[in-house]
Amino acid sequence: MTVAVIEKKSFPREVLCGEFLSHEVTSALKSFDLFDEFLSLKPNRVTHFRFIPENGAATTHPLGFEGFALKRSLLDQLLLKKAKSLGTTVVQPAEVVSMRRVNNIFEILCKTQKGIETYAAYHVIGAYGRQNIIDKSLQRPFASSRSGFSGVKYHIPKNVLHRLDQDEIQIFSSNGIYCGVNCVSEDEATLCFLSDKNINQLDPKNALYELLEKNASFRELFIHDPLPTLLKLPVYGTGNIFFGKRSVVENGIYMIGDAARVIAPLAGDGIGMAIESGMLVATILTEANKNSYSSAKTEALYKKEWNNLFSKRIRVALGLQQFALNSRGGNIGGQLMRHFPLVTEKLIRWTRR
Ligand SMILES: Cc1cc2nc3c(=O)[nH]c(=O)nc-3n(C[C@H](O)[C@H](O)[C@H](O)COP(=O)(O)OP(=O)(O)OC[C@H]3O[C@@H](n4cnc5c(N)ncnc54)[C@H](O)[C@@H]3O)c2cc1C
Repeated sequence: MTVAVIEKKSFPREVLCGEFLSHEVTSALKSFDLFDEFLSLKPNRVTHFRFIPENGAATTHPLGFEGFALKRSLLDQLLLKKAKSLGTTVVQPAEVVSMRRVNNIFEILCKTQKGIETYAAYHVIGAYGRQNIIDKSLQRPFASSRSGFSGVKYHIPKNVLHRLDQDEIQIFSSNGIYCGVNCVSEDEATLCFLSDKNINQLDPKNALYELLEKNASFRELFIHDPLPTLLKLPVYGTGNIFFGKRSVVENGIYMIGDAARVIAPLAGDGIGMAIESGMLVATILTEANKNSYSSAKTEALYKKEWNNLFSKRIRVALGLQQFALNSRGGNIGGQLMRHFPLVTEKLIRWTRR
């Protein structure tokens, strides 16, 4: 099959993400023969996570696998370059504004620097992320709902931090917010948080103030008041993140990554799921073409395999997120992690393949 990627932004670009890469990502990079090039970008190795609830009783736990952290601008550029080298046409920058199916062929309209361009395709894969104008045009039910969840990311200089072990991701929690901090290069760390307005009634900026106020360990992470630094840095964020169920095939379009379903970021597995679901749809469409499956059979197969691969980890991650987003839940969760390390190990395993 010939493939085209239509991408709205010019790469390299940043996106909202904690930039932790779980083992699904590294095994995919190995299978794409990209692992050595990935290592040459000097990703930070992450082997432990430390959970610090409001009461300050921190617990450190090994991840049970070697994770990494790398800026999304670098990772995504690496993947796009590989796709181009395999013959993929990349149309960029170009925003898909509408898609419709006419006699089993999709017509895709894109806004480019030259004006509106039209493409035709036998199959369309929706890889446009957690929310988009396309969701509205496809009349996906969640597109008009308000979730109350916001996410924000900063790249902060490491010299504003007291101590952050290179191989550790630290997660701080308070009422309605949790924040992950991990080194992403030799001199920078990623600080990324999720806030739930339904719990704390606060906008993201004020939720971060409250985390600084209520979680002393988070405050102590910084040498000085971090707010003047943060206010000067570029911020990558979004509101209205929807974690609920979505249809993974919509009007014949195969959804992958966040467009299919957003996993709770606490699991650090969204990038892995995006790559794995991309590999899954490629395998199924190839098999369907070879064996002349009907659209109905191909769609049913994708839905079934998608559920087998992802449903359990999404459920577990969502349950854990509810603990982390609650002062009391966070304190209890921290205690349980300390007393039941085997359960913690199992839960980490259940949030990934
Ligand atoms: C607070 C937070 C922290 C997170 N931390 C982590 C983490 O540490 N580790 C992890 O694995 N996951 C994390 N995630 C999840 C992870 O970021 C996502 O799951 C992952 O980026 C999904 O990839 P995707 O390709 O589906 O979408 P995206 O990465 O969002 O990519 C979508 C692409 O589509 C393009 N696009 C959008 N609309 C159009 C259009 N109309 N036409 C053309 N192009 C379009 C965009 O420009 C973008 O390049 C986090 C999420 C949140 C909210």
